[in-house]
Formats: sequence, structure tokens, C-alpha cells
Amino acid sequence: MHSYPDASTVVRAFSPDQPVILNRPHAAARAARFFAEKFPGKSLYAVKANPSPDLLQILWDAGVTHFDVASIAEVRLVRSLLPEATLCFMHPVKTKSAITEAYTQHGVRTFSLDTAEELQKIVEATGGAQDLNLLVRLRVSSEYSELSLASKFGVDLADAAALLRNVRQHCDALGICFHVGSQAMTPFAYVQALERVRAAIAEAAVTVDIVDVGGGFPSCYPGMEPPPLEDYFALIARHFEALPISYSAELWCEPGRALCAEYSSLIVKVEKRRGTELYINDGAYGALFDAAHVAWRFPVQALELDLIQPHDEFSFYGPTCDDADFMKGPFMLPADIQAGDYFEIGMLGAYGAAMKTGFNGFGEAIAVTVTDEPMASLYRGDRADPRSSDNVISLR
Ligand SMILES: *Cc1c(COP(=O)(O)O)cnc(C)c1O
Repeated sequence: MHSYPDASTVVRAFSPDQPVILNRPHAAARAARFFAEKFPGKSLYAVKANPSPDLLQILWDAGVTHFDVASIAEVRLVRSLLPEATLCFMHPVKTKSAITEAYTQHGVRTFSLDTAEELQKIVEATGGAQDLNLLVRLRVSSEYSELSLASKFGVDLADAAALLRNVRQHCDALGICFHVGSQAMTPFAYVQALERVRAAIAEAAVTVDIVDVGGGFPSCYPGMEPPPLEDYFALIARHFEALPISYSAELWCEPGRALCAEYSSLIVKVEKRRGTELYINDGAYGALFDAAHVAWRFPVQALELDLIQPHDEFSFYGPTCDDADFMKGPFMLPADIQAGDYFEIGMLGAYGAAMKTGFNGFGEAIAVTVTDEPMASLYRGDRADPRSSDNVISLR
């Protein structure tokens, strides 16, 4: 893939009519090295955040060896690219055929579940296998996170003990996992969840071999600037070590967003301006799903040199004919931006570039590599925080 210094160079080279995805392999590799070196346990990359084959290879090369997969298609994808990788099937509701294929053809030994019915399914689908790592998904609060994952999955604490004892009979290693919700803005989200893990273990009186604190590690967006990741890691380590578990118990995590948010940004073109609404060539059915559906604010920056007015607040319409193709923002751009101008939308590597659809005939985009820094980074080493840390939060 051809590589360019930055977004402006790409605009000058192509004047592109389609959106252009800008990938930053160095940023994803840096995030992966950070987790591989600093998380006090094993880091599984949550593939759903961005399943791009290039990205999977970058993460593997940078030291991520375990992958959290949630569908048989993700199992096949990662296995075909990375024959040596360890795959963990962490969706608590799977089809029997998916479990059988994952176990017999792709070497998957780790599965999550949150009901006795799912346990039965796993036992049958693997022919009563004796070499399984089974992780019980516990429901925990999402109150400290920007996106909830609390309602769909997870056994309630009141029912956890019975399920843990039941699962213990059918596995080699027993684990407990949870998800505090995506973009957890404080490490106390994990402290609170680990307290619930403690209660479940005490009640069940079983030996637990794996504690998996899930995803939720934040990235950096306008108005959402989290404390350093080291704070999360330190608190998780401290509360993990205080659990009533065996000395050899393992600590796992499943970062999605934190490993890939910095990987991609997007160049878009303004097709029309109506007041402070910009009609652009990507939107709710493209890389801006979260901007439309949960009013996520992504950083933006103008790419024209002749824009001189101070920033104003803009909202965006995407290219489809659908009223819902609307991103409220506010997004801060020079007040004199107009039709024909280009700008860059940052931090789209997680749940952004990966979500593009072809709805309404739009969705085509070219992808190129750029070598400049992402608009914000948690890993750059120039953190604007008085605490000494190599974990950073600077938005430019
Ligand atoms: C989505 C998901 C993740 C990744 O979550 P992030 O908030 O992106 O870190 C991890 N584990 C499970 C089970 C998930 O569903």
C-alpha cells in the first residue's frame, strides 16, 4: 500500500470524490506493544472492533497473540491469517455448529457462557471435551462507561454461584469474565466489577483459574479524555491479586477500542453547506455509525490552507437519502468552510472504518497508509498531565 505523510498530501494528490480511509500502522503497533508490555496479564484483541486483516497482522507482529472472536466468521478469518494465534470464543450465545467447527477445526478451547443451557450446548457440541477453558460471563454495571453492555449478556450475581459450580464439573480451567461497557472513563468501573467477581467466587466456593476483565479500555475523543491507562492497569492488578483465587490464576483482558481507535481516520469532502450543516460523502451507514446513533463526537480538522475564520460548531448529513443519516456533533471546523472543501475525521479505527456499508450505493472508499500521528493518542509519551507517565492524552 502506498504511503503518504498526511491527509493534506492525499487530498492534493487525488482530489478524491470518495472518502479516503487513512491507516496508521505505527499507531496500532504502539498500542499493542503498550498492552503486551504493561497490562499485568494476557491481552486478547476483541476482533469485532476492527477485523481488518492488515490490522490483525500488525497487532500480532507487535505481540498480541490472543484474539477474542464472537462469530464463526471471525474464527475462520483470524485462523486463516494467523495459524498460531490463540482464539477465544467469547460470545455467550453461540450456535452448536459454530462451537463444533471452532473446537474441531480451529483449535478453539476457550468459550464464554452465561446460562446452563449454553453450557449443555458446549458440552454436546464438543463431545464432552475435557480440555475446555470455560468463562462464566457475569453481569456488571455500565455506569462508568459511555456505551452500555450491561443489559444483553451476563448472569446475575444471584444466579452466578450455581452456574459456576455447574461449569466447574465440565471444564479444565474455570474463568469469570465481564464487560464494564465501552469507553470506561474511570478505572473504578473495573474495581466495582471485580468486587462482584469476589462476591460470586465466595458464594460459589469454587476454584477459579482465570479472571477476564473484558474490554472497555478507553481512547481519547473530544470531551472524553480518560486518565492514563496505567491507572487502570494498576488498580486492576491490585484488586485481582486480592481475590480469593489460586496463586497461579491468570488475569486476562479483551481490549477492542483501545488497541485500534488510533489506527484509522477518514478524509471526507463537503458536497453542500446549509447554515452550519455540512453535507458530506460519508455518514451513518459509513464510518460514522456511532456519530449518528449514539452522538459520539470525533475530532475533526480542516485540510484547506485558505480557511482563516475561527471555528464554529457544525453538524453533518451523510450521503444517503435517509434523514437518519445525520451526525449532530457539534464538530468544530473553520467558519468559512464550504462545498468542495475537504476535512479529516480522526479516531475512527474502532467501530468506525469497520462499519461501512454499501447502503444506497455509497460506501466505496480507498484506503492508504499515512505516517503522521493520529489526532489524539494515549500512547505517545507527551502526556499533558503532571503525573509522570508515558501514557498520553493530548488532543491537538
Ligand atoms: C465488544 C467487546 C469487547 C471490546 O470492547 P471495547 O470496549 O472495544 O474494548 C471485548 N469483549 C467482549 C465480550 C465484547 O463484546
